[in-house]
Amino acid sequence: MKMSRLYMPTLREVPSEAELPSHQLLLRAGMIRKLVSGVYSYLPLGLRVLKKIEDIVREEMNAIDSQEVLMSAIQPAELWKESGRWDDFGPEMFRLYDRNQREFCLGPTHEEIFTDLIRYEVKSYKQLPLSLYQIQTKYRDEKRPRFGLMRAREFIMKDAYTFDIDEEGMKKSYEDMWIAYEKIFSRCGLKFKVVQGDSGAMGGNASHEFMAMSEYGESEIAYCDNCDYAATDEKADCLYEIKEENREMLVSEKVHTPNAKTIEEVSKFFHAPAESFVKTLLYMAKDEVVAVVIPGNRELNEIKLVKVLGVPEHELMMADEEAVKEATGAEVGFAGPINLKKGIRVIVDSRVTKMVNFIVGANETDYHIKNVNYERDFKGEVIDDLLLVQEGDRCPKCGTPLKTDRGIEVGNIFQLGLKYSSTLGATFLDENGKEKEIFMGSHGVGVSRTAAAVIEQFHDENGIIWPLSVAPYHVIITIVNTKNEEQTLLGERLYNELVKAGLEVLLDDRNERAGVKFKDADLIGVPIRVTVGKRANEEVVEFSLRRDGEKAEINTGEILDKIR
Ligand code: ATP
Ligand code: MG
Ligand code: MG
Ligand code: MG
Repeated sequence: MKMSRLYMPTLREVPSEAELPSHQLLLRAGMIRKLVSGVYSYLPLGLRVLKKIEDIVREEMNAIDSQEVLMSAIQPAELWKESGRWDDFGPEMFRLYDRNQREFCLGPTHEEIFTDLIRYEVKSYKQLPLSLYQIQTKYRDEKRPRFGLMRAREFIMKDAYTFDIDEEGMKKSYEDMWIAYEKIFSRCGLKFKVVQGDSGAMGGNASHEFMAMSEYGESEIAYCDNCDYAATDEKADCLYEIKEENREMLVSEKVHTPNAKTIEEVSKFFHAPAESFVKTLLYMAKDEVVAVVIPGNRELNEIKLVKVLGVPEHELMMADEEAVKEATGAEVGFAGPINLKKGIRVIVDSRVTKMVNFIVGANETDYHIKNVNYERDFKGEVIDDLLLVQEGDRCPKCGTPLKTDRGIEVGNIFQLGLKYSSTLGATFLDENGKEKEIFMGSHGVGVSRTAAAVIEQFHDENGIIWPLSVAPYHVIITIVNTKNEEQTLLGERLYNELVKAGLEVLLDDRNERAGVKFKDADLIGVPIRVTVGKRANEEVVEFSLRRDGEKAEINTGEILDKIR
C-alpha cells in the first residue's frame, strides 16, 4: 500500500478522553475513531490488525476441529426467556422491538442461540462431540464503557460452543480450548496468565480466564509462585455459588441466630461458607464515618482503604459502633430495613452488588437477615477498585503467600454443564437409546480487546511496537526525499520486490518532511523499517527494527535475508 493513498488520519496530540496507552495510540495512529461512547469505527490499519488476530483465532479453532458459522446479532427474546436469562442479564443487554412489538436483543453472547441451533438437529450420540464457533460483533451496554477497545459497547468476540455426550467429553473439549487459547495468545505475542475465573452470568461450574498482564488491567490477579494456583479477585472472593432455590426467595428474612456472633459461628448456623456473608467495617476518616461493605470472608487492610477513600493513613481509624451511633444518630449496620440517618458514607465493594441472597447482621443481638440483595435492601457508593485479594494472602492450595498483579481478560473458557441443554431441551439418544441432556461449554476470545492488550504490552513513548504476527504491515519503506528520482525509483522497486516475496509492505511515498514520516512510522509501529535516502544511488539503504531502533546500512540485496 502506498501511503500517499492510505486513509490514516494520525493525530499529533494525545486525545484528552483517552487515559490508556492503547486507547491513545489507536486514536493517534488513525486506527480507530469513536462514533459514540463505547462504539468505534475501525479504519484501514486498525482493521488489518483485527483481521490478523481473527486469522490466528480461526487457525487455532479449525485446528481443534471447531467449525466456523455466523449467527445473527439480533436475537429473539423468547430464547432468553426459555433459559431464564432475559431477566438475569439486566441493563447490560441492548433490547429492542420490531414493528409488531416483538422483543429482541442485540446479542451480548450466544449460548441460547447455539443451543437452539443444534437442539432440533442433533439427536444421536453419533453426532457428538460437536464444536462450533463464530467471530462476530457483540453488544453490551456496559455501565462504564471506557479505555477504547478495551471495554466497548460494540466489540468483536470469537465465541465457541462445545456439545458433548458426558462430563468427561465436556472436560476434554475444555482442555482442547485451553490449549488452543494458549497458542492464540502466544502467537499474538502476549504475556499472559491463566487464572480460575468467576462463572458469573454464564452459569455452570469450572471456568478459566486468560489474562494479558498489564498494569492498567481491570482485573486483579492473585497467584502463587510455588504452585499453579492463580485466581482473579472475583473468584477468590466469591467462591460461594448461590443455590438456584435461594434465588426464588425474594424477600429478605430475619432469622433468630442464638450464639452466632463470629463469622465462623454464623457460617455453621446457616451451613453456608463465609463468602455468602456481607460484613460492614466502620472507619473514621476526616470526621466522617465511613462504612465499607465487603464479602464476609475478607478483611480490609488500611492501605487499601486509604487508597479507596483517598485519605492519608494516619487520619483513618477503626470506629467504635457505639461512638458512631452517638455521633450520627444512625443505626449501625446495613441491609434489611435499616435506617442510615445521616453522616455515614456507605462504600460497597462492587462484588457485593453481584452477590444474591446473602446474609448480614440484623443489627439486633442474636439475629441475622438472610436473602438480602443489594439495591433492593440497601444501597451505597460502589467502588470497583476495592481490591480484596492481597499480596501475602495464603494460597488455598499450598499455603504460600500469594502475589498479586493486574491483567486484562482477553479470553474466558467455561464448562457450562447442563444449564442450557436442560432449560432449552437439547437432548440426544445414547447408545442404549436413552434420552440424555447435552454437556456444553462456551469459550470466548475478545478479538478487539486483544488488539488493545497487545498495544498495552508493546509500545513506547513514540508509539506502537507491533509483534510481527499481528502488525498491520510487516515492512515500511520510507522514501526520505520524494523529489529525488533515484530514491523514489529505488523505493518503488524495493516495494514491488518485497510484495512479490509475500510481505505486506507500506511505501511512504508521501511528499512530507522526513521527520514527519519517521514519526508516523514510529507511531503506527510497523515492525521492520527500510529507509531509502542519500545512498540510493549506491543501492544502500538503512535497515532497522521498530523494536530496538538499531540502524544498519545494508545493500539492497541483503534485505530479504535480514527479514527472514
Ligand atoms: P469483563 O469481565 O471484562 O466484563 P466478561 O467476563 O464480561 O468481561 P465474557 O462474557 O467472558 O466477558 O466474554 C468473553 C470475552 O469477550 C472476554 O474475555 C473479553 O475478552 C471480551 N469482552 C467482554 N466484554 C467486552 C467489552 N465490553 N469490550 C471488549 N471486549 C469484551
Ligand atoms: Mg463483562
Ligand atoms: Mg470477566
Ligand atoms: Mg469473562
